[in-house]
Amino acid sequence: MTLTVRSHRESVGLTDGLLYIDGKWRASRDEETWSHYHPATGEQIGEFAVAGGSDVDDAVQAARTAFDEGPWPGMRAGQRIQILHRSAELLREHADQLRGLQAMDNGVPLSFAAVYATSVGAAADVFDHHAGWVDKLGGQTLPAYQGGEHLAMTFREPVGVVAAILPWNAPFLLFAQKLAPALAAGCTVVVKPSEYATFSVLRMVELLVEAGVPGGAVNVVTGPGKPTGEALITHPGVDKVSFTGSRAVGKRIVEASADTLKRVSLELGGKSPTIVFPDAPDVGMAGMTTMGTVTMGVSGQACVAHTRALVHRDVYDQFLASAQMMADAITYGDPFDAAVLASPLINERQLDRVLGYIETGQREGARLVTGGDRPDGDLSSGHFVRPTIFADVDNGMSIAREEIFGPVLSVVPFTDEDEAIRLANDTEYGLGAGVYTSDARRAFKVSRKLRAGTIGVNGFQVEPHVPFGGFKQSGIGREGGRSAFEAYTELKTVLLPLTDEIM
Ligand code: NAD
Repeated sequence: MTLTVRSHRESVGLTDGLLYIDGKWRASRDEETWSHYHPATGEQIGEFAVAGGSDVDDAVQAARTAFDEGPWPGMRAGQRIQILHRSAELLREHADQLRGLQAMDNGVPLSFAAVYATSVGAAADVFDHHAGWVDKLGGQTLPAYQGGEHLAMTFREPVGVVAAILPWNAPFLLFAQKLAPALAAGCTVVVKPSEYATFSVLRMVELLVEAGVPGGAVNVVTGPGKPTGEALITHPGVDKVSFTGSRAVGKRIVEASADTLKRVSLELGGKSPTIVFPDAPDVGMAGMTTMGTVTMGVSGQACVAHTRALVHRDVYDQFLASAQMMADAITYGDPFDAAVLASPLINERQLDRVLGYIETGQREGARLVTGGDRPDGDLSSGHFVRPTIFADVDNGMSIAREEIFGPVLSVVPFTDEDEAIRLANDTEYGLGAGVYTSDARRAFKVSRKLRAGTIGVNGFQVEPHVPFGGFKQSGIGREGGRSAFEAYTELKTVLLPLTDEIM
């Protein structure tokens, strides 16, 4: 029987999507729409409005007016806190529906959407976490350094109108990581979901509105990178762009921000290494976990996936055997089937790209241990690729250097600690890394030497209050925690004379 998911439209409450601008849902001015085709089945799932330049302009103007005149930035801290906590509650109450909508968007199975890091629950926790910062948005009072008696006072003020641009692979968490701190700081927002994960984001915007976020303080423009994203990043009324997505688009955003010197936060890609030492507490578990990050849920289409395993020669075969066991255990197919663990690739372009890297890996001389091909039968109309492991990879090969964004693990052997650190840091990226060892001193020493934003020792997890982001070409800035919240503020100094004569 051919796989179908379209029949779930009604049960998950999926209706065709509109723009939300200045407190009203409406079509785009030129009535352009985008048809969404499901990555597992190829079925047309629904349509949503494509915001053109004039729609984006309306949304930015609405956010500008709401920032300059509206109630949100000036609202008392207590009321803003209540609205953010209520947003978290509503997200939790609608978790099942949101998971269903996400499955219709990007084919991520319901089973994986229950795993904490990418769950609706984690997104709700991010709202609760940032609600806690609202009444702590304070500054300093500094004494006179020279001259007459005076005080210097610092204030943290909201940065202004924020353009929040999302990728498709983790819409719950990334929506929250951007909107919660921006709204907590008193900013107003125009959010642009990925064209491959729009319906779940539209529902989250509805829930924020239901929670009491006023019209104009949150707006949503839907559509692809061009025209919608481009119109947003080049708009002079936007004060800050907060972006998660590919390195190529991140670079374009930096370029486009130069004109009006917009503030920019970028969460980009990775080629994160995991280092497995011979004294790892459980080499088998290291192999399963590493391959799990490369296959479970989004089939390796995750910035944090540890796609480059650096494994000591003494435990190399053991690691490969357990990684292969995980690869063989992965099930894929209908995202609504509780037994399905992994998604298809998001679109045909990504499918071709991943198959292209698999060919390149073989041409460059790596050893294909498992996978490398597509399942047939019922799954042939989806963009599925079987979990793939390459062994005997040289760190100079393309499959060790480039972000493949698919279920492909490259395993590189090493002999000693110095070599492992050198190989790990020999990359243009720096998002995450893993270290497997039983030696606490080694864990600490190696972690300090790795040039990456988050190092997991004997495991890895994402939490709402912990900074997350990249060194090098993996990004600029951090999400999560106080530093993320402060990145949605400007620091202002007021010099207050206490006598007639100050300087
Ligand atoms: P993408 O860069 O193709 O798209 C991301 C968003 O940017 C989408 O909303 C898209 O419509 C928009 N966009 C595309 N072109 C644009 C333009 N010219 N101007 C403005 N907006 C534009 O990325 P993707 O395929 O959705 O996501 C995959 C990438 O995201 C991977 O590289 C992955 O590593 C990265 N990612 C990073 C993190 C992180 O936290 N570091 C998290 C998730 C994904």
